[in-house]
Amino acid sequence: MVDAGGSTVLVTGANRGIGLEACRQLKAAGFSVILTARDADEGRAAADSLGVAFSPLDVTAAEDIAALADDLRRQGRRLHGLINNAGISLEGFDGRVVRQTLAVNFFGALGVTEALLPLIGDGGAIAMVSSGMGELSAYTPALGARFSDPGLTRDQLVTLVNEFIAGVDAGTYKQAGWPGSAYRVSKAALIALTRLMARDLAPRDIHVNAVCPGWVRSRMGGSLAPRSVEKGAASVIWAMTPGQSTGGFFRDGRPANW
Ligand code: NAP
Repeated sequence: MVDAGGSTVLVTGANRGIGLEACRQLKAAGFSVILTARDADEGRAAADSLGVAFSPLDVTAAEDIAALADDLRRQGRRLHGLINNAGISLEGFDGRVVRQTLAVNFFGALGVTEALLPLIGDGGAIAMVSSGMGELSAYTPALGARFSDPGLTRDQLVTLVNEFIAGVDAGTYKQAGWPGSAYRVSKAALIALTRLMARDLAPRDIHVNAVCPGWVRSRMGGSLAPRSVEKGAASVIWAMTPGQSTGGFFRDGRPANW
């Protein structure tokens, strides 16, 4: 059970699916919730249905991210937590799919987190919604070692992700050891980002964890998925619980394979 203490959590991509349900559960647990979505009409309707605050946010739009951070600053609002939930899984595999997927699933989470970080109080929590598809078993040992290097920096990680994009453009990604899935790479990169941010934010006692909701019956997961959105969202909001470890990858509050 999450102990809210009345603090604020902001959730991205929350007009539907796991993000919307996470907002509902966070509110029920006593958090003050800021639901964000790229479609303002859908987002506002979703927020109104829960009785929580709404802010427009396309995680790929630098101007949206800056406006959100400015608004929060103007209101003097501090955040306890941030849940980077927005995600896409596109059909096909080419340079366009790879760029779009990484723009939302990896660079979106990175940009939002960096912009909102000054507003997150010491002792706060950040969750990156990743996936079992982010497992390093999909890579050559050499690439896996680069992702999991404990000294990995943000810029090295961005370089690694850009190497994948360049490899897809050049048709050389397979020989270089990459899987043919933009979604997989985006979710592995998100776990690597989690680990390095957890390390760098330890002095402020900000806990950063990656979470997997499991295979969930949402628009992305489809109707055959075994899990309800309620169960998936519970696995996500667990990361807002004060007092647990940092820099891990968890499903249902238990360490998951990376
Ligand atoms: P979903 O129903 O497809 O919802 C995805 C959400 O992300 C939607 O609200 C969508 O908004 C939003 N989004 C997409 N692009 C965005 C952007 N550029 N800016 C802001 N929001 C954006 O999928 P879900 O199952 O709830 O997925 C939530 C998260 O869980 C994702 O990160 C996903 O990768 C992860 N996950 C899901 C499963 C699963 O089985 N479902 C498994 C593992 C991990 P629009 O309505 O505007 O498109």
